[in-house]
Amino acid sequence: MQAAERLGVPHISTGELFRDHVERATSLGARAANYMDAGELVPDHLTRAMVQERLRADDTRRGFILDGYPRTRIQAVALDALLEQLDRTLTAAVYLRVSDAELVNRLSSRGRDDDTPQTVRNRLRTFHRYNAPLVGYYGEAGLLHEIDGEGSPEDVAERLNGIFPGAAGFTTI
Ligand code: AMP
Repeated sequence: MQAAERLGVPHISTGELFRDHVERATSLGARAANYMDAGELVPDHLTRAMVQERLRADDTRRGFILDGYPRTRIQAVALDALLEQLDRTLTAAVYLRVSDAELVNRLSSRGRDDDTPQTVRNRLRTFHRYNAPLVGYYGEAGLLHEIDGEGSPEDVAERLNGIFPGAAGFTTI
């Protein structure tokens, strides 16, 4: 069972929210599509507004799992400010550690439109440049949980369950 389901909180993936906008041909979708196709980050102000709207929804009251957000230090600072406004706190940041070779393997077998070799290479570059520094950011905040993301989805889920036995609001980076 996925962590969100087990904890009874919504799983909020910014990538999924963006793909939904693209599918529904919204103006946000039109603005995000080129970045997604290139494996680059959608500009922060667009991402922030979308996350803000989602976190304001009632179903996040008992907690939430953010997946793929924040992805930059600027987004992390924005998230802190947003949660403060909403009178909420982040209880944990989970870093699922996976080797580049395994990531390329996984991405190449998903069949998503933005999984071409060139886009995958770009996403990895973006990850190392922007996402990886968040490990330091959340480490300093005392929120970081680093777990081994290799192995089967069941193995990884079990490791995650060990960290979150009860309801929580956390982000994966
Ligand atoms: P994902 O499904 O997490 O791999 O995200 C797919 C694409 O959506 C990424 O390659 C980015 O173009 C965009 N995206 C998702 N989350 C973010 C974010 N937090 N900041 C900027 N762009 C994002």
